[in-house]
Amino acid sequence: MIGRWITLAACAAAGGGLGWWAGAREGLAWGLLLGAVSWQLLDSLHSRRLMKWLRSEQSNETPLLMAGAQPRLPGVWGEVADRVRRLLKNRHQQYSDSQGRLDELLAALQASPNGVVLLDDEGRIEWCNQTAAQHFGFDAKRDIQQHVANLVRQPAFNAYMSAANFSNDVLIPGSSSTPARPMKLSVHVHRYGKGRKLLLSRDITALEQAEAMRRDFVANVSHEIRTPLTVVAGFIETLQNLPLKKPDRDRYLALMAQQSQRMQTLVEDLLTLSRLEGSPLPGASEWSKTATLFVQCEQEARALSGVLAPQGHQLVFEPGPDCEIAGIQREIASALSNLVTNAVRYTPEKGLIRVSWALLADGRGKFSVQDSGPGIAPEHLPRLTERFYRVDRSRSRESGGTGLGLAIVKHVAQRHGAELQITSQLGQGSCFAMVFPPARVRALQLQLHPSA
Ligand code: ADP
Repeated sequence: MIGRWITLAACAAAGGGLGWWAGAREGLAWGLLLGAVSWQLLDSLHSRRLMKWLRSEQSNETPLLMAGAQPRLPGVWGEVADRVRRLLKNRHQQYSDSQGRLDELLAALQASPNGVVLLDDEGRIEWCNQTAAQHFGFDAKRDIQQHVANLVRQPAFNAYMSAANFSNDVLIPGSSSTPARPMKLSVHVHRYGKGRKLLLSRDITALEQAEAMRRDFVANVSHEIRTPLTVVAGFIETLQNLPLKKPDRDRYLALMAQQSQRMQTLVEDLLTLSRLEGSPLPGASEWSKTATLFVQCEQEARALSGVLAPQGHQLVFEPGPDCEIAGIQREIASALSNLVTNAVRYTPEKGLIRVSWALLADGRGKFSVQDSGPGIAPEHLPRLTERFYRVDRSRSRESGGTGLGLAIVKHVAQRHGAELQITSQLGQGSCFAMVFPPARVRALQLQLHPSA
């Protein structure tokens, strides 16, 4: 401030000196006035330059310079300009920092696997991520500022929003839900700020399906166990209350043994399934000889055929080239045994069952079981490996089936990277094949014939 007074005094003195020299006392007064007016003019020129610079867009970046050699505005205006520039620069830095943080936050919300929608106090969409756009069918740009209730036209959702009780979530179908491919969303609203709302959506389709499968599974297991249990309980009561003759007693005991065997087989299959689901994937260090697997299968098939078909079946075993399969022998044997015993159980007596092993040209190994049984209608084929899915319920039960055999086969195949191929035609028989990948198959010919 003192600087301003000094420059004013210097201008006035210069003007006064000049006036004195020109016209003594009168000249001094005019000179002083002229000096003060020129100082004022110069000062307002500087302030105008400062204002112009402040209005310009680079005011926070480039310093205000004087035209010519002088680097900056002189005196107090220069200091004002410097301070304003520093202030603006800080503000700009703060703004870009917070903009960066906001962008990062939005990117994090964008990456969220859940749908996120920010609603204003009127329930209008302020922002939503891509997942929410997919869940509700929003257009993340066009639908901004639209009322959410106008876009999500689900009665359950509208009732939830109008009740404004957000302690629980609401379940609604997703925008792309169809009867063939249902999609279920769990939507939860949380309040924040002044009347604003955060709407979160989660795709729970897989969860719902798993829950439905679990319920079906428990219902099926209970049903499968209840039937033989009721039979056994009935016979026990009869044996306890009636004085039966020995042949009747023996017949009842045989039936009880049959039912308890049925329960035992079911429990064994359930345990096999749970072991398959719970154990680590088989490595490639354990090798099983196809010849050994074939011997096991043949023994089982002949024994079962003898029990189920008094006149037997035509059983043909073609073990093919001697090979080894990498994987857990117990699992592979159980899968092959399920396929062979199914063929025996569903093929009428005297029917043809051909079990074969072949090395394919691409190095894969194919184990197939072909039968001349009743065949399976095409609509059943995709569901055969579901647990407890049966085409012929009574034939399955009569022959001791649990409805879990093909589910076990599918699991074993998946765990060993093998493909389960099913081809069948009604009245023409079926073919079930497990095709093992080349990495799990090796031929033994060189070891067996070292001279070759
Ligand atoms: P199950 O214990 O009832 O045989 P699976 O899971 O082994 O259960 O088989 C599922 C269903 O597939 C069977 O109930 C049967 O209807 C059908 N099926 C399986 N193998 C054959 C086959 N070789 N011929 C005809 N139908 C078959």
